[in-house]
Amino acid sequence: GNTALSHAEEERIFVSIRVRPLNERERARHDMSDWECVSGNTIKFKNSGHAEQRPLSMDTYTFGEKHEDALSMDRVFGDRCDTRQVYEQGIKDVALSVVRGVNSSIFAYGQTSSGKTHTMTGITEYAVRDIYEYIEKHKDREFVVKFSAMEIYNEAVRDLLNAAATSLRILDDPEKGTVVEKLTEETLAERRQLQQLLSICAAARTTEETAMNEASSRSHQILRLTVESNPCDYADAARSGALFASVNFVDLAGSERASQALSAGTRLREGSHINRSLLSLGTVIRKLSKGRNEHVPYRDSKLTRILQNSLGGNARTAIICTISPARSQSEQSRNTLLFAGCAK
Ligand code: ADP
Ligand code: MG
Repeated sequence: GNTALSHAEEERIFVSIRVRPLNERERARHDMSDWECVSGNTIKFKNSGHAEQRPLSMDTYTFGEKHEDALSMDRVFGDRCDTRQVYEQGIKDVALSVVRGVNSSIFAYGQTSSGKTHTMTGITEYAVRDIYEYIEKHKDREFVVKFSAMEIYNEAVRDLLNAAATSLRILDDPEKGTVVEKLTEETLAERRQLQQLLSICAAARTTEETAMNEASSRSHQILRLTVESNPCDYADAARSGALFASVNFVDLAGSERASQALSAGTRLREGSHINRSLLSLGTVIRKLSKGRNEHVPYRDSKLTRILQNSLGGNARTAIICTISPARSQSEQSRNTLLFAGCAK
């Protein structure tokens, strides 16, 4: 067989790094870019000698080195790459696993204004397009697609499709695993309906961003697409039965508080400064990437509980770590790269 391929299939946690371009505000105050993407998998800090910087032993971060074969799964994307490239190289496979009955989660991790929402919005659009294209090509199966959307803020789960539902409970179902009680699940008659729902969610996120920046940087948004399929022909049923899976698009809270809490050695606790779900996700990802036999503390936070069925096991996970190129943000950028390194 093809060893590179089997390696790729084994890879459950796929990490990519994306550096956004400097924005106008940063340019106006003559901020400059501190990061250089050396190759497809290496990012280098250009100003390690900068006086204001806390010295760090490492100024080059390389991803995907674990693989002996030439096919490195992880990628670094510089400011000239667009979302489509980020999507095509790795994320697409993770998202499309949903039509084969494999659960997955795709995360954007990074400090506020590093490009999480920008990246996830594009990724979600491309994934939806490809999932529907697959469905249209496979007429031998009958597909049912459902959509739900939620937000976690201060460990409270809110239904983005039902403004009245602001504190949903999470239950353990013996068959389905973890479920969010009373969460609205829209069965999609056609693709256009999904696009409308996505714009509603995007608008909700944008309103928050402008009105209450604080809330948007501290909340997690999960958009979930569930795909169920059955063979149209009964004769086929024995060969390829029912398939059922979800793909989760997760726009995480800003990582700035989590890294502050970690560097201060603060214990995990609820409070205004620490985002419990984000810290807990970090722990879960680290445990999952290390090995199979360790206890994985999914129950420590709402985020990891909700995503439990789509993390670990045979589920696939992709994390896009977004960083700002600005020198003024380099401390946060390093923290994000350290997180990315831990996820591997
Ligand atoms: P976050 O969700 O991490 O807080 P945003 O996605 O809102 O950050 O990005 C902050 C700003 O930077 C937005 O105006 C966004 O349009 C812009 N931006 C982010 N990433 C890119 C990119 N790769 N290319 C161009 N503009 C970007
Ligand atoms: Mg955002």
